Amino acid sequence: MDSKPIGALAIDAPVLGEDATCGDIQRVFRRQPRLSGILLSTQEGIALVDRAAFDALTLRESRETAADRPALEVADPNPLVIPDDQDLLDASTHVLERRGPSLYEDVVVQGPDGSVRLVPVSRMLAELTQLYRHQARHDVLTGLANRTLVLERLTAMLSRAARHGGLVAALFIDLDGFKRINDTHGHQAGDRLLMHVAQRLRDAGRTHDLVGRLGGDEFVLAATVNNVDDLPGLASRVVDALEEPFPIEDGPAVRVRASVGVAADDGERTADEVLRLADNAMYSAKRTSGSGVAFAHQLPSSPYAASASDDRAMAILLEQALTDGTLRLAYQPIVDLETGALTRVEVLARMPLPDGELVPPDRFVAVAEQSDLIDRLGRWVLAESLDQLMRWDQVLGTSAPAGVSVNLSPLQCQDPHLPNIIGDALNRAGIAPDRLWVEVPESVVTLDDPSMRRALSELDQLGVRVTIDDFGIGDTTLGRIAELPIHELKIDRSLISGFMTQPSQRQVVRMIVELGRVLDVSVVAEGVETGGQVRLLRVLGCPAAQGYRFGRPMWANDLRGHLTELAS
Ligand code: C2E
Ligand code: CA
Ligand code: CA
Repeated sequence: MDSKPIGALAIDAPVLGEDATCGDIQRVFRRQPRLSGILLSTQEGIALVDRAAFDALTLRESRETAADRPALEVADPNPLVIPDDQDLLDASTHVLERRGPSLYEDVVVQGPDGSVRLVPVSRMLAELTQLYRHQARHDVLTGLANRTLVLERLTAMLSRAARHGGLVAALFIDLDGFKRINDTHGHQAGDRLLMHVAQRLRDAGRTHDLVGRLGGDEFVLAATVNNVDDLPGLASRVVDALEEPFPIEDGPAVRVRASVGVAADDGERTADEVLRLADNAMYSAKRTSGSGVAFAHQLPSSPYAASASDDRAMAILLEQALTDGTLRLAYQPIVDLETGALTRVEVLARMPLPDGELVPPDRFVAVAEQSDLIDRLGRWVLAESLDQLMRWDQVLGTSAPAGVSVNLSPLQCQDPHLPNIIGDALNRAGIAPDRLWVEVPESVVTLDDPSMRRALSELDQLGVRVTIDDFGIGDTTLGRIAELPIHELKIDRSLISGFMTQPSQRQVVRMIVELGRVLDVSVVAEGVETGGQVRLLRVLGCPAAQGYRFGRPMWANDLRGHLTELAS
């Protein structure tokens, strides 16, 4: 809020001639009860009859004596006259420096054409009070709320949340490398950049959101949200807003990354505490997070995964999970259909949310593929599965699973470093290569990409086993399958769910089993849920199966219990 010209506060006032009498003045005041002063145009210039002073005088004298007195005798011959375009703040210094009886008198403002009007001092004081209040609560450079107002408004938002429900999200935003921009381009450029950031944050917020600057390159955005599910989306809105490079006068536009810490509260905590939580989260975002976003650990628990609809938000969640080490692996038994023994387990990733809900991999693996997180996710899954196998070896000895099957996403299969990554992981865990099975979706094989071919044969040389996952629904030609160095076909779930009732599907399953025999590779039926399916698979000669019938995906400890039971 800028200060305005004093003329903006002026009101019209009657101007009488210098021969006016006190009786004339009285009549005007009586007609206009709210008028605080009357001007007299004199030879020297302008005189002012102040209503309060005039009333005091005429009270003392009888109306008759007063009526004929020249008005000039009761007027201030030297009122304060200020050009009407003078800034209110400058004008106010003159007013406040006045002494004596004219202290509370109206101020005369004069236009460029010589016309005069009055500014009541009460109006000026009201305006100044507002201005000072505003300035005490706003950042001078950007016009955003400053720390004082941020705390005030955040407090109000929190108490509203406590009364009416909902959550208040506070995002603590800190620019990375701002000091460098200040140093290389000068403080003016730095200031302009901060103003741009302020504008982008304003635009990113909705009408009732609070955007403030806490000082330096620290900003805050606070918003009322329905539940914690909304937080990742909000965070990604802020990150997106700052993504475009910022114009800098003396050079090419600069990119400014921001670190964002997110806290949320339902009104339990004070504004100060919520800001501190967001601040701490911001520091952990700076240290660890590639996306630039981190969440406070003290989020009120509630469903969280609705932001699954927003890919960017999901990427932020996944990255947070990878960084915090909260991602988990579930293991599902693969059994030998002849003996019923567990031979291997398939590793299935799960992303737990603060309330314990699990985000299924279909959702976050796709997102990981679109960002550069797939590499981190893949390495983590691999290392963790092999470690787990080693731990099972230690506690279970010969009843430990013979191997683990790890899923590879299409992108991972095309990564030229894949064989190295896998080789390193095996070495580190001390696991024999033939105990690791990797599941490659049939769709990847159909693509027939040369880098995929190379990766498969390098894996084969390493001694790692390859399964074609979701087999039987794509259009891989038999000839191609025969050419590839693979060790297992996994019959797609959809074929198994339909093959009891649909002869054509039964025929496909039969052919896959046959193909396995011819190629001398293993065949696993996936998604086996009923005893009827098991019997039919046995009839068809399918050697192995996996599905709820034999065990749902379970945590490592539960699987251990399962195995000990089987062994006893
Ligand atoms: P997939 O490889 O086809 O994995 C089998 C899916 O079928 C799993 O779903 C499993 O929970 C489910 N399932 C197992 N038995 C049954 C059953 O009897 N009936 C039914 N209806 N479903 C059954 P999940 O765990 O949700 O995994 C989905 C997909 O996500 C997997 O499909 C896999 O392609 C992918 N995935 C899982 N973990 C990872 C990972 O660590 N890395 C990569 N790249 N992808 C993964
Ligand atoms: Ca699989
Ligand atoms: Ca599958």
